[in-house]
Amino acid sequence: MNEVKKYVYSFEEGNAEMKDLLGGKGANLAQMVQYGLPVPPGFILTTEACLKYGEDPAFLDSVWDKVVSSMKDIEKKTGKTFGSGENPLLVSVRSGAPISMPGMMDTVLNLGLNDESVESLARVADDRRFAFDSFRRFIQMYGNVVHGVNGDAFEEVLEHFKSSLGVKFDNEIPAEKLVEVVARFKEIFKEKAGFDFPADPWQQLRNAVEAVFKSWGNPRAVTYRRLHKIPHTLGTAVNIVSMVYGNLGDDCGTGVCFTRNPSDGTKELYGEFLINAQGEDVVAGIRTPLPIVQMKTTMPEVYNELFEITTNLEKAYKDMQDIEFTIERNKLYILQTRNGKRSAGAAVKIAVDMVAEGLIDKKTAVGRVTPEQVEMLLHRQVDPTAENEVLAKGLPASPGAGVGVVCFDADDAVEMAKDGQKVILARPETCPDDIHGLFAAEAIVTSRGGMTSHAAVVARGLGKPCVSGCEDITIDLNKETITRGDKVIRKGDTITVDGSTGRVLVGGAPLMEASFSDDFQTVLSWSDEFARLQVWANGDTPEDAKRARAFGAKGIGLCRTEHMFMATDRLPVMQRLVVADTYEERLEALEELKVMQVEDFYGILKEMHGLPVIIRLLDPPLHEFMPKERDLEEELAELTADGNENTPAADKVRKIMAKVEALKESNPMLGFRGCRLGIVYPEISAMQSSAIFEAVLRLVDEGIEIHPEIMIPLVGVKTEMEFFRKQIDEIAKDYMEKSGKKFNYLVGTMIEVPHAALVADQIAEYAEFFSFGTNDLTQTTFGYSRDDAEGKFLGQYEEKGILPVNPFHELDREGVGVLMEIAVEKGRKVDPNLSIGICGEHGGNPSSIAFCHTAGLNYVSCSPFRVPVARISAAHAAMGRLK
Ligand code: ADP
Ligand code: MG
Ligand code: MG
Repeated sequence: MNEVKKYVYSFEEGNAEMKDLLGGKGANLAQMVQYGLPVPPGFILTTEACLKYGEDPAFLDSVWDKVVSSMKDIEKKTGKTFGSGENPLLVSVRSGAPISMPGMMDTVLNLGLNDESVESLARVADDRRFAFDSFRRFIQMYGNVVHGVNGDAFEEVLEHFKSSLGVKFDNEIPAEKLVEVVARFKEIFKEKAGFDFPADPWQQLRNAVEAVFKSWGNPRAVTYRRLHKIPHTLGTAVNIVSMVYGNLGDDCGTGVCFTRNPSDGTKELYGEFLINAQGEDVVAGIRTPLPIVQMKTTMPEVYNELFEITTNLEKAYKDMQDIEFTIERNKLYILQTRNGKRSAGAAVKIAVDMVAEGLIDKKTAVGRVTPEQVEMLLHRQVDPTAENEVLAKGLPASPGAGVGVVCFDADDAVEMAKDGQKVILARPETCPDDIHGLFAAEAIVTSRGGMTSHAAVVARGLGKPCVSGCEDITIDLNKETITRGDKVIRKGDTITVDGSTGRVLVGGAPLMEASFSDDFQTVLSWSDEFARLQVWANGDTPEDAKRARAFGAKGIGLCRTEHMFMATDRLPVMQRLVVADTYEERLEALEELKVMQVEDFYGILKEMHGLPVIIRLLDPPLHEFMPKERDLEEELAELTADGNENTPAADKVRKIMAKVEALKESNPMLGFRGCRLGIVYPEISAMQSSAIFEAVLRLVDEGIEIHPEIMIPLVGVKTEMEFFRKQIDEIAKDYMEKSGKKFNYLVGTMIEVPHAALVADQIAEYAEFFSFGTNDLTQTTFGYSRDDAEGKFLGQYEEKGILPVNPFHELDREGVGVLMEIAVEKGRKVDPNLSIGICGEHGGNPSSIAFCHTAGLNYVSCSPFRVPVARISAAHAAMGRLK
């Protein structure tokens, strides 16, 4: 016999564990009912019902009886009746997916109203204004959400009424006028939807439920899921909740609060409320709301109750809560609780504070701070010492600072950003339709709306600076201007948005890189406890090394020596080396370079005392050190301008030109570079190894503990590796014998061409460590030259879905990753303790780090600035939180 599946749950039947089935909103409402909190009665249609409906809309018929009986239950609990009677029951129809998707799917309030029930409502509430205000809201929301009627037409009517009445806010429109508004709204509905506004509440309910189910597939929601990697197979639940009214007068209101400050993490009841208002008013930024502390004086009892409830909710959920509430005639109702979104800084502070309070353990704390948030903390701030012209001050809605040119439209923002401009999106307020503009913008400024407005919430989530509720400025979308007094900012003008202080500055203010707070350091040090991968840094100078250590790197995974030859005092010597005709000439130049290299290696090894430093021998093709052909031609033309062709200076230039010509390659990336240089000119690599050992000996004399490792680039076959291993061991032996001192060193290789990965077992006979150079490995595995690919076709590849992501940003697991796995397996077969790391840019990319963890690497090495991101990623990878 088929088991009858349950698709409808009353709040009494659910709890917080049931998020997958009941959605986040529904599960939490049910849990709050379990706690005995004042939640209006309601029930939930499950996410499974949504998926069933997606397969076949007729499915809804089979569960409709259950919906009807659940409505009857609410009627019993509230003493109201749906669709008729003296005391009409109205409900809200709210979507709620297992993962919160703010602003993605809209709620309909006051469902159940029609010409008859609105009169009953007016009678029982003894308030006609309220009843018709609720009705006009319902027509507007229902029209918009369920039947796609654009909200602008309704807003225009409302604006018209307000201005002809000479009032500013919609709660100032008197009842008799609201009756007219409702009539107009119904006309608009009919005009746009093509049929009469449905008077039957059951029909309204059915349509609304279907609309929620359908909204799972609307493009806005699909985009959001795609951007946030949320699976499309979750579905959304529908919550049907009896209405409570915040718009019944001045002893009513609605609000949103957080148990901690979501901007900076301070432990305080933080939020906003609006007197005599309903639901969306706070979020939509219609009126700018009041800070929650003002409730202490205006509604002290309600405030105390709210404070107690929210404190208990936080204790129960062991996380900062974001709570929606409504006050109906001094009676508090809780309409939603969820783990609150927070800025990166707040995430860190709250995590550390909650450990100190004994609420959570360290591991949970580390899990609460994401790699993206750590990245945001490395964001910039306006330099506080600089003098700036402040245009206006609004609310510090999302921290960080952004400089850019102003634009007023989301599509423009996308276009301008595509052209490489940094843009600031300025809007009176934003809505979910602007989401692509928010993504494209450096920062956002709105003239209306509070800390919980759409712009503020989305900006915090994206880590973009945002100033909201900046009411001193006027943003005119038609003229495309921001004005304050006689100051006018036009489209294309540069401004600075300081989301940390709420200031909007004229022009581009100087910005400062972010600094490490103590809490930030604490979370990172905890993450090291849970990570298996170590994090090293790539760095070429003692300064890099110092920064790497400060950011917590446990070694230098890649010290590139070529940069050392680019300095102005060295390049001429390097060029002499390249153009040298004889071995002797080369030795002479090398001897000079060695003196300088000893200093380089001494500096970096000393700075990294106690930790490993991997020094890579010369890698790029030699032509990179040579002047450009065109420059040489110009130089020659100048030298011979007087007709004297045969001066020594001119001859010298000609000689260099000939060498440059000879060094030309058809495919430099696959050409004469890496270890190939050292095989043809062994004296070059010998010089570098000698310089390393001379530095080592000096440090040994100074009694400093060092761990030098020499890395050979671009090895493809074992004989290459064998060649260098022998050369380096001989040189080392020589230095030890001559000095009578012993020192430790390792010789290893990069794995950056597919052949090396495939014969890694052979190479491991001579290599003491491996380091994946995933930039070259990606180039050679795909056969893409990165610069050409990124410049010419990779963008199109991503747009057309040929590749899901740029493989130079996120490690390609299916090809490059498989080669890495082969190399790890083969290498460790020869030497089970073989140390293996990655030193390509991917070493700082969270998803790539997760792969390195799974592949069994020992460490990832990335740019010093990304070390914190890599540390938290390594911990999350070990906890299985990062895929
Ligand atoms: P969102 O997911 O966009 O926050 P919600 O379903 O939470 O949407 O509802 C939107 C607004 O309407 C919120 O402010 C919420 O508190 C309010 N609201 C929802 N249901 C009710 C209800 N039954 N009575 C009063 N207000 C409600
Ligand atoms: Mg909500
Ligand atoms: Mg390389």
